[in-house]
Amino acid sequence: MISFSSVSLGSGNTAERSSQVGAPWPIEGMTMKALVYHGPGQKAWEDVPDPRIQKPTDIIVKIETTTICGTDLHILKGDVPAVEYGRILGHEGVGTITEIGSAVAGLTIGDRVIISCISACGHLDYCRQGVYSHCLGEEGAPGIGWILGHLIDGTQAEFVRVPY
Ligand SMILES: [Zn+2]
Repeated sequence: MISFSSVSLGSGNTAERSSQVGAPWPIEGMTMKALVYHGPGQKAWEDVPDPRIQKPTDIIVKIETTTICGTDLHILKGDVPAVEYGRILGHEGVGTITEIGSAVAGLTIGDRVIISCISACGHLDYCRQGVYSHCLGEEGAPGIGWILGHLIDGTQAEFVRVPY
């Protein structure tokens, strides 16, 4: 059985954020707090650049609540070598959309959303069959739906970029 604990985050940096595709990044002074993995047994709550929209199908979410999963504990022990040093951990969350890519339909800035541990492109074979955990989307690695806090930066942060 997996147990979850809830962590509330502060309100963070209130300066205006801009992450238009192609804009220089990181933007000087635009930093947030995040839990960063630095190798087995080593983690730090530190300042990192804000995430930005990288593809038209991305959104940026301001995290209100995230979780610590048993999987995070495995990562912190060094059991998941695919997690690179410097990765922001966390693969679930609740928050509000602050930025949205130009190709995103059905969501808008200000929407409150749940971020699933499984990221799904929604249109390739496995996703069309409802087998989202084997998503073949281009982020992370094909066939691995769990990418947040694993193969891309995750939700234990003030803001997170969510693909698709
Ligand atoms: Zn997919």
